[in-house]
Amino acid sequence: MSPEPRREDVLRLLSYAPDSAQTAFLGRLARQTAREVAGDRAGVWAAFGVDTAPCSMSCAFCAFGASWGVVRESHEWAQEEIVAAARRYAAEGASWIVLRTTEHYGRERLEALAKAVRAVLPPSCALVANTGQMAVEEIRNLGRAGVQMMYHALRLGEGRDTPFDPAERRQALRRIGEAGMELAHLVEPLGPEHADEEIADVLLAALEAGAKVCGVMARSNVPGTPYGGAESVSDARLAQVAAVIRLCGGVNTPHVCVHPPVSQAVAWGANVVVVETGAIPRDKKEAAADWRGFSMDDARALLLRHGYVVGGA
Ligand code: SF4
Repeated sequence: MSPEPRREDVLRLLSYAPDSAQTAFLGRLARQTAREVAGDRAGVWAAFGVDTAPCSMSCAFCAFGASWGVVRESHEWAQEEIVAAARRYAAEGASWIVLRTTEHYGRERLEALAKAVRAVLPPSCALVANTGQMAVEEIRNLGRAGVQMMYHALRLGEGRDTPFDPAERRQALRRIGEAGMELAHLVEPLGPEHADEEIADVLLAALEAGAKVCGVMARSNVPGTPYGGAESVSDARLAQVAAVIRLCGGVNTPHVCVHPPVSQAVAWGANVVVVETGAIPRDKKEAAADWRGFSMDDARALLLRHGYVVGGA
């Protein structure tokens, strides 16, 4: 384990303009770091949104927020559809299969779904759950059902754009480690207005909680939500934040993800990109095929183009 970076150092790296010579240098250094800590291996994070439901939490950036009226009806994908998609993604070389559910789905049903999906995955493919905050015993039950990693995140704007208490979120992150489960935690949802200080604090929360997969995700400004029509973060800033995460994560964080799959971020050390389908909280509509047409083939081609070996990340 390497020591966590100092907050002032993270701030310094974030302070350079995304298109400056300093950031370009850091980006090259980040790519070299990916070579050293990840052996140039890269992987695809294949996510299935299991259900859609209007959610009373109404986070400002989420299409499922009941207050926005964007998603008005609940819908669940059938277990056979999810298992078939997981099998296909695994056969096409995904390193992680992610089951994303809302609070409404129910813990026992998620365990049953996890067991069914785990049964069709090769050992090289990790099963991930992305759901609400859980107690230690609930997380252990998911582990017994075959889940190896939880996605959970202290959000940018937590307590401001969400009704969640940041301190409780940090406790939820700690419980994942206490339950013996690996953690994935991106810095998200990133918009152009987020200050370096807030990005640094969320990144440090992820690293302190021991995230094995870290990275950055841009906010999608879904029409009808409070961010509908807002500006999006630039690709250059997204790539800069990915590079900073690679440099700050060091040997503790071999997997650095960028979503959406910005080529500059992959050139600057991000070695995980996302393919997803089903219910998408960043869109008005569910995706019956790969979201925004970004497929496993596209993901592999992008990672190969930047010199990575794909699979088994
Ligand atoms: S981000 Fe999660 S908790 Fe917040 S509104 Fe969306 S589904 Fe609900």
